[in-house]
Order: sequence, then structure tokens, then C-alpha cells
Amino acid sequence: MDWHYYILFWVCIAGLCLGSFYNVVILRSLSNESIVFPPSKCPKCGHKLYAWHNIPVLSYILLRGKCYFCKEKISIQYPIVELLTMVMFGLTFLKFGISLKTLFVLIWVSGLIIMTVTDLKEKVVDCNIAIIMGVLGILYNVIAYGWRGLGLSLLGLLGCVIALELFARSGYPVAKTRAMGEADTYVAGALGAIFGLYGVIPVLLYSLICSLVIIIPIFFYKKFKNGDRMICFSAIIFGVFTGIYYYFPSIISLALLALSGVYLAIRVIKNIGRGDVNYFPFVPALFAGAVICFCTLI
Ligand SMILES: [Zn+2]
Repeated sequence: MDWHYYILFWVCIAGLCLGSFYNVVILRSLSNESIVFPPSKCPKCGHKLYAWHNIPVLSYILLRGKCYFCKEKISIQYPIVELLTMVMFGLTFLKFGISLKTLFVLIWVSGLIIMTVTDLKEKVVDCNIAIIMGVLGILYNVIAYGWRGLGLSLLGLLGCVIALELFARSGYPVAKTRAMGEADTYVAGALGAIFGLYGVIPVLLYSLICSLVIIIPIFFYKKFKNGDRMICFSAIIFGVFTGIYYYFPSIISLALLALSGVYLAIRVIKNIGRGDVNYFPFVPALFAGAVICFCTLI
């Protein structure tokens, strides 16, 4: 059993180092620089970094989150990506052990981490990563399940692309713009190819729940800050009536709940029309949905 922990240790170390490399990929893909050249430097002062500035997580702690030369704050993104990659690598190894599946999942998770961070930072997603993930998804399903795997994988890809495009274009009648970026369709398509037609349905459902958990509080916080107290007030009323109906179910409490729900929905839809919600953080949500399903399904 000991060798198992020994390998786990080195898988985690590999995750830390690759996480550090993904930070470089993220930074350079946002600034359109080559990944290999130039050598790592401070994005602010351009000073070339010493070797000990590049140790994952540890350097951030030793430098107290500041550049050694110009004292510019180093983004918390760096240690977060390193730790996240380490945790995901460790969990993947614990779940699937030494197997081909582990290798595939590590690559998929890596792609999702990179795309999630660039999406969160600048709403930019390199669709090539999603395409590579999708191709590997088809390949994996063919190796694991043969012709049936190929069919389900292709149907999953197609189903996700259609579902996401329908949803994205539903934004036109309401807000005269796409509800989601094109990259979301690529990423969802890749997940469809990976999880197959049936497997991807819970992935999309979890993603939807995750994005609502993120977007709803942000929406109401923005409204509250902008002085639109009515919409927050109606949300609170809806919450109170939900509680009343839960503990005292009756026709009257149900009617009150429905009325407050309709009122809240009208206010929210009116506000979406004003363009307050112009960003639906779906790549991070797809990442969360995929991780939940990597753990429970495969
Ligand atoms: Zn600097």
C-alpha cells in the first residue's frame, strides 16, 4: 500500500509543476506570446526571474505575494492554479489509479483549468484546447467501448452543440445578443464527446446549477449596489413566501408564492433586457459540472 502513497506524492508534485506551467500558458495565451520564449519574467517590470522565484506556491509565500524587483503584487491566480491542478491530479489518481483513464482525465482537467481561468480573467477561451479535448474524448470512447462508444460520443458532441447554440441564440429576442459566447459551445461539445450522449446530461445539469449559484448572487448584489432595491426586495419576499409554503402548505400560501414568483420573474427579465447580465460564466460552470461527474459517473 505504501507505494501507492509514494506515487500519489509524485503525482501531486507533478500537478504543482504543471499548474505553474499552465499559469505561463494562461498568461502567454492572453498576451499572444510564445509559450517557450521569452524566459519567465515579471509581467509588470519585465525583469527576468531567478530560479527560486518559480517554485510553485512556495515562491508566492516567500515573496509575500510581491515581485522581488518592483514589489508589484503577484496575482493570487498563480498559487490558486497550482494548488487546484495539484488537487485535481491527486484526486484523479486516487479515483482511477494507474490507468489509461487517469491519463485522459488529467489532460481533460488540465484543458478545463486553463480555459476556466482565461474565461474568468478576460472572457477569452482558446477553442483549440476544446477541440483537442473533444478529439481525445472520441478516441477514449472508441478505445473503451468500441463502435458503441464512437456513436454515443459523436451524438453527445452533436447534442451539446445544438443545445448550447439554441440556448445562446435565445438571447437575441430578449437582449439582442447571444446569451453565451461561442467558446461555451466548443467546451460543451468537447464534454459531449468525452461523456457521451447519456453521460453529458448530468454534466450540463450540474453546470447549470453551478452557474446559477454564481450568477444569481452577483446579479442581486449589482442591483443592490446600483440602488435598485425593488428587485432585491421582491427576491426577499419570494424567499419568505417559499419558507411559509414549505412549513404551512395551503392554497393561500401557494397562491402568494406563485404571485411573488411571477412578480420577481418579471422584474428579473426586465433587467436582463437592459443588458445587466451580459456575461454568463459558463466555462467555469462546465468545469465544475465535469469535475462532479468525473467523480460520480465514470
Ligand atoms: Zn516586477
